[in-house]
Amino acid sequence: MAWSDKSHPHRLLLTKQFPLGLEMLPLFQPAMLAANRIWNSCVWHSRETFKQENRWPTETELKAKFKSFAAWRELHSQSAQAVVEEYFEAVSGYRKHRENGHIEMNPPSFKPKNHLRTVTWKRQGFDVKDNALVLKLSRKKEPIKVALPEGWNVVTLPDGTGMKGTPVEVRVKAVLRRKVENLVLHVTFDLGVVSVYRTGAVSAYDYNSATFARAALNGALDLFICREILSQVQYRNKTIADFQEKMSRLKEGSRRWRRCLSAKIRRLKKLDRRIRQMEHALTKLFAELDEAEGVAFAVVGDLTDLRRSARTGMKGRKATQKINQMAYDRLHAEQRYKNLMRGVQTDPWTERYTSSTCCLCGARNPAWRKHRGLWVCGKCRLILQADLNGAANLLKQYLFGSCTGRELPFAFGEPRVWRWDKRSNKFVQVSPRAAA
Ligand SMILES: [Zn+2]
Repeated sequence: MAWSDKSHPHRLLLTKQFPLGLEMLPLFQPAMLAANRIWNSCVWHSRETFKQENRWPTETELKAKFKSFAAWRELHSQSAQAVVEEYFEAVSGYRKHRENGHIEMNPPSFKPKNHLRTVTWKRQGFDVKDNALVLKLSRKKEPIKVALPEGWNVVTLPDGTGMKGTPVEVRVKAVLRRKVENLVLHVTFDLGVVSVYRTGAVSAYDYNSATFARAALNGALDLFICREILSQVQYRNKTIADFQEKMSRLKEGSRRWRRCLSAKIRRLKKLDRRIRQMEHALTKLFAELDEAEGVAFAVVGDLTDLRRSARTGMKGRKATQKINQMAYDRLHAEQRYKNLMRGVQTDPWTERYTSSTCCLCGARNPAWRKHRGLWVCGKCRLILQADLNGAANLLKQYLFGSCTGRELPFAFGEPRVWRWDKRSNKFVQVSPRAAA
């Protein structure tokens, strides 16, 4: 996993994983259990404060309150604070989902007493000594020393160059399948601000539920059929609803209820892995196409626009669908860092009118977007897959400031069509007829 940091759009952060082996478990277990106790305290105190004072406590309030707790004094202060921060992140994630209509979501809740919670070490929480990380606990406790292989801090970019990163965050996670299988160290490296090309071609992307479209300045049009991802996402939603229904009929906390809960978690983990794999393959293909075609700027629809239109009265079907079904934030973030690793800059741009304008002649009429996703222009007679028309308009918008009232100054070639191939686990090019 990797992402680009908010502090600078071209700062690249990347996470590498190192399996530790179960023999390290006795060393990490006390810290992980302490982190779990802090989490449970967050849940408990939030509920109590709400019950007694009819308000939710703030992050600072909880941090101050827990300082005297025994569990807090097991960990390095930054690691203990990180648990509270994660709790508040989970709460705001829960709220966002509720706002988007996912009423089946539950607020963050208590974890079993023996749950091994991930522990995070921030910059001041660890030292680097040659090929070893020294992870600090509270002042009175011995730090944990982890030896790492040669070249542990070197990250290889897609073009083969190795970059030495500065570790900025370390996390220890337990891998669970029925029981603890392993411990994995996740080290996040700061690779600094990556240089991006300042001149070059432009490509634009139209994100939809079942299809993604791409248009580039060299005349390339690409259509990515993502029905496979969408159906997995829908199946995942249905699975959640089914379990929710089943669990609502059981007594909360009972043995059958708990068994149902762990079955739910197992199923969702498996489904999530499959969805994430397809998302990764898709964004990787985007970045590879851009790199191969000398693209310097990849343009994507601005998600803040989308949210605003979904919240205000103009609840377009497209906006609602986009918000509810696919993880657009995650896809954007993935496309962004994969591009960055190849020197391609990602720019969000407004999608206004891009789905109701003809990309060829610039005439605008929402009614020309026909059923079954076709754009049929009433003026110049262009017939094009509607999402490709949208991507081409986004490209025009980026180049000229607006997509309406202006003819396309260059020609597009035949669209290429890509589809998920189960056997090779990647998107492959298929004949255009497959798009129908
Ligand atoms: Zn037209």
